[in-house]
Parts: sequence; C-alpha cells; structure tokens
Amino acid sequence: MKQSNLKSLQLFSLIALLVLVSCNKDQNKRVTTDEKMSDNILLQKWTGPYGGVPAFDKMQVKDVQSAVEKGMELSLAEIDAITDNKDAPTFENTIEEMERSGSVLNRVFSYYGIFRSNMSSPESRKVQSELAPKLSEYSSKISQNEKLFNRIKTVYDNSQKNPLEADQQRVLELTYKSFEMQGAELDVDKKARYAAINKELSTLYTDFSNNVLHDEENYVTFLNKDQLKGLSEGYIKSAAVSAKEKGQEGKYAVINTRSSMDPFLTYSDERPLRKQVWTNYYSRGDNNDEYDNKKIIEKILKLRRERVELLGYKNYAEWRLQDRMAKTPENAIELMNAVWPAAIARVKEEVTDMQAIADANGDNITIEPWDYRYYAEKVRKKKYDLNSEEVKEYLQLDKLTQALFYTAGRLFNFDFKPVLEGTIPVFQEDVKVWEVTDKDSGEHIGLWYLDPYARTGKRSGAWATTYRSYTTFDGKKTVLASNNSNFVKPAPGEAVLVSWDDASTFFHEFGHALHFFSSKVRYPTLNGGVRDYTEFQSQLLERWLSTDEVINQFLVHYKTGKVIPAVLVAKIKEAATFNQGFSTTEYLASAIMDMKLHLADPANLDVGKFEKETLAELGMPKELVMRHRTPQFGHVFSGEGYATAYYGYMWADVLTADAAEAFKESPGGFYDEETAKRLVKYLFEPRNSIDPAEAYRLFRGRDAKIEALMRDRGFPVKTE
Ligand SMILES: [Zn+2]
Repeated sequence: MKQSNLKSLQLFSLIALLVLVSCNKDQNKRVTTDEKMSDNILLQKWTGPYGGVPAFDKMQVKDVQSAVEKGMELSLAEIDAITDNKDAPTFENTIEEMERSGSVLNRVFSYYGIFRSNMSSPESRKVQSELAPKLSEYSSKISQNEKLFNRIKTVYDNSQKNPLEADQQRVLELTYKSFEMQGAELDVDKKARYAAINKELSTLYTDFSNNVLHDEENYVTFLNKDQLKGLSEGYIKSAAVSAKEKGQEGKYAVINTRSSMDPFLTYSDERPLRKQVWTNYYSRGDNNDEYDNKKIIEKILKLRRERVELLGYKNYAEWRLQDRMAKTPENAIELMNAVWPAAIARVKEEVTDMQAIADANGDNITIEPWDYRYYAEKVRKKKYDLNSEEVKEYLQLDKLTQALFYTAGRLFNFDFKPVLEGTIPVFQEDVKVWEVTDKDSGEHIGLWYLDPYARTGKRSGAWATTYRSYTTFDGKKTVLASNNSNFVKPAPGEAVLVSWDDASTFFHEFGHALHFFSSKVRYPTLNGGVRDYTEFQSQLLERWLSTDEVINQFLVHYKTGKVIPAVLVAKIKEAATFNQGFSTTEYLASAIMDMKLHLADPANLDVGKFEKETLAELGMPKELVMRHRTPQFGHVFSGEGYATAYYGYMWADVLTADAAEAFKESPGGFYDEETAKRLVKYLFEPRNSIDPAEAYRLFRGRDAKIEALMRDRGFPVKTE
C-alpha cells in the first residue's frame, strides 16, 4: 500500500531527539560491564531471566537526572582509561573498549526513554530540559577528545596497510568517520567554537519544540452542539472529553494536533470551521508572537552552516549525506525531482474530481486547502464505495498480532510465545511480553514488549525501540525490543478494532522490531541505522498485511468470525493509489524545502519569504500545503535527526517498492522461501555491517529502480 510513507511520517512526532531514540535507538546502544552501583535502581545491573531485564516496575522519575549524570561520569571515566593506556593503540585496546564503554548510561537511557515517550509528565519534561545541554556537552567531550581520536587515527592508519576482519574494519571506519564529521581534527579554538555551537543549538531545538507545543495546546477550536455535522460518534465523544479537560464542559474541542485536525477536515460539513481549524494547525510556530519559530530557524541554519564550514564543507547537506545511502544532496534531489512532476499533475486531476463533486452538490465553492480532505473523502466514497468503518470490523488487534507472528514465522523462522504474566517487569499493566525463539532450534532470540494503548503522557503515533541489541563481541547479548501504539483501550472483553492505516502501521513498527531481532552483528556500532535505509525494512513489512495468507487467516469479522469478503479486499487494493497526488505532494514539498533551506546561504535568509518563493518556483498547487510547514517542521528543527534527511522516507520507499516486486516476481510470491532467505540474510541480519547499497545489490542482483515506486503510487512510468 502506498500510504506506507505517510505511516512512517506519523510515527515521528515533534521531538526529534526523542525520534532519535526511537527508530534508531540502538546506535547509542553499548552493552556490558557490570558495575556495582549506588542504590539508584536505574544504574543497577539488569537481573532476572533472559540475560537480565530492565526493572521497569521499580523505576521512578526522581531517579533519572542523577542516574544520567552518573552514567555520563562513568562513561567518561571509561574513555579516560582508554586514552591513559600506555600500550600502542590497537583495535582491541581502543575500538573494542569504546564499543564496551557507556553500558551503564545505555541502561539508564532505556528508562529515560520510557519517561519521555511512554510515561511523560511535567516532572519528566523538566528533567529533560535540564539534561539536554548536559548531554550535548557530554557528547562533545567524547567526540572532541584529541587523545582518543589520535588513538583511533593510529588504528585506522594501520588498518589501511593491514586490513582487519571485514566487520572490524567497518566498525573502525564508521568510528573514524563519525569523529572526523564531528570535528575531531579541529584545532583547539575551532573545537571550542564547535562545542559552543552545539550547546547553543541544543537550546534552540528545545525552544523550537516548546513553541510548537505551546501553539498546539493553546489554539483549540471549541464547538457547540450544532456545529458537529458530519463528524463521527467516536470523534464527538473524544472531543467532548477534551473540552471537559480544558474546562469547557458541554462543548467539543478540536485540539490543534494532526490526529484531531485530520479527521475534522475530512468529515466536518462546516466549511468556515474547517478553515479555522486548518489555519490554526498550519500556523503553528508562525503567529508572529513570542512563540514564533522563524527567527529560531534562521539562527539554527546559520549555526549549522558555521559548524560545517569549520570542517571544510560547503553546506550542511553535503556534510550530512556523506555517510547516507544517497551519499550526496544531488542524488537525493534527483529522486525528488523525478517524482515531483507526476505528483503535482496528479493533484490537478484530484482537484478536478473534487470540484466536479462540489459543483454537482451545488456547494458553490472553489476547492481551497481546507476543502481537500473533505472532498477527497467524497470522491473516495463515490469512486471506490469503500467504507472504512466496515473494514475495521475485520481488523482486530489480537488477530493482527497473530498475523505479525505468522509473518515472522514464515519469513524469519521466528516463534513468539507469551511469557507468563508477572515474570518480566513492565512499566504499565497493559504492556505484554513475548519470548522470541527460532522455530527449529528453539534458540532464544529475545523478548518483545508491546505497549498497545493510548493514555495521558504517552506520545502520539507508533514507534519501535530496543532496550538491548544483539552483539557477540563480549558474549552473546539477546535482544529486548518493543513496539508502542496508541490504540483505544476497549472495555473488558471487547475487541479492539483498528483502521486499515493503523493495521499497516502496526506491521510497519513490527518490521523495525524484526530488524532488531534478526541482527547478527558482533559490535554495537554495527547495529546503528542509516537514516535513508532503516525505514525500508519496516515499510516493506507492511506489504504482508494484504497477502492472501494473512487475509484468510486473520482478517475475520469480530462478531461472526467470517473472513473479510473478497470484494471488500478488492476495493481496498483498488483504492490503494487514491489521493497519491495529495500525499506525495505534501510530503515532497517538505522534503525539498528541507534540502533547499540547508543549501541556501543563511546569511540574510528570511525564512517566511524563502518558503513562499521556493514553493512558487516549484509550482506548488495552491490547493494544498506542505505536510510540515517550515516553522513547525520538528523533524528538521527540534533536533538534527531528520535535517536534510526527510527525503529519506522516499529513498527508502524506492527500495521498498522494488523489493516488493522481487517477491511478486518470485514463484512463491510474498512467501517465496528463497527470496525470504535472501531478504533476511542481506537486508536484515547485517544491519549496518555492510554498505546498504551493496547489501541491496546482493539481494536484488542490481540497484533499486524508481519505476517500481512510480507504479506503486499509480504514477505514469516513462518507458525508454
Ligand atoms: Zn519506521
């Protein structure tokens, strides 16, 4: 399904720092060494079965700050021990020791991540703002440690003459490169400036997110009873609850977030209110008041440019992309430019269809951005006659969970068994844990934690993370991975029914978990993600939701147990390319903007003007806006996780579409054993231990082709 893209976008909410810790958490993951700690539970060694598990049942937010500080202190002491070593630098006494260091801090981060994403509170957010600049200083202390870098450089130089084993060589090269990219070779003055820039940026990132949050919390649209036309019962109910929480009992609140805005714009019959809700949402961070983000963005862009110029790069994008699969901004831009014309041409067709419906209804309007979702929904109903409520009745959370396990069994040979309740500590009673083993050998692979339901203090969307990653260099460590969603908790004994989109997302996040579980790397660094590659594995897994095997076994009606009718499945598949003009264009406009902002000269850049002019140059259709307008583009400005990297979703989607075709072309289709074996061996197990482009070639016998993506989205494919 083509919405794969959107799905993944939704997972990444505002706090980019937090984002870093989610899909890619394990790049921070270091394992081992068991220190005897104070009585702070967060610092203590994990005990219990399966190689030890986090003491989630005992953690308290009051322990976080001191634990993180102690963790940083210990890890810096470990670095000192490496640099104080009198022996000549070797892979073992330098690189391997670095891989070993930071284990306590990483354990603390597992708890800290829960307090940020799953159980956030005003208290934990306060801790977070206090820790942000300290963590920035901490990482500068390591990345700018001259003695450490000199040792790494010696090992690296030696390896150019006498290469190490392939995976060791890769760890070394990734380590060397990352130090180089972070200013290890700068002189003392430049290093000081480099660290100062990072510290200033970390505060600007926090300010940026807080401003967006402020505007989300403060621009609420309250509705009266007579203004609910078109909205679903479920929406009205939760809007009533939200209004009550905001002290306006008896009214209905449209909160200024995507999950509240999107359905309102899709279903509300009240056009002036749609305009108001739309305006509130797309003006976040852009209200020309003290919470406006434009000046902050201008400062961020200047500081990022100054920082990479210290290192001798022309611009941030060039610096950032060198170790990505795309390698250069030009390659990323080439892909985006290739898709853009088809996307905006499709918007034109969509607008024509929508205008025709509006005219036929006698609505007497011209389609504006706040009308797009509303009329698109009417076109969808008319063209495909697809009722999403009807589809939901066949999508039960329990059955979908079984479908995930079935898919993992067929492709990865994994078996999932629930662990006895009470044997593994959890941070909330709804969190469930399964043991993952190899189906044939019974070998223990890891534990899978699922936190399924929405609650106050849990971040929106869905995400995957690890508490511990697979490594073998210090004895085998098994995987502790989690999936997190925001399904609405049912009354006891009732089924949880989810939308098709949410079911796809559930598969998507499970794809990340499978990527964690299948890791076969020796060193922690090799578990790291490559930003424009790590979404590929998860996007690909979404494809198994609509396979016949899954449909016939697991998509059954929650009351009758009957399999979803073939005609309904056909409608879902037909509607798959629907509204691709809208979703591709809103996404690409943001991705292109991200790149252009970082290629432009930041000296006198006026962000508001730049956004307007760039969109005009692109020929952005006036009926829609960027998915993330610049002043609210948290992926790019509330941290660095997705700066000049937002294109990565489409980059990964090219691989996804192309790899899906590899399965389609196989004799056994999506369950073809040979193709599945190659998939696991080349695209999952190695993680970052081989170059992603090379890994893909090993799987496919060639590079991925963009035509697969065009076909997937229903765009015309040029034939040569
Ligand atoms: Zn993802």
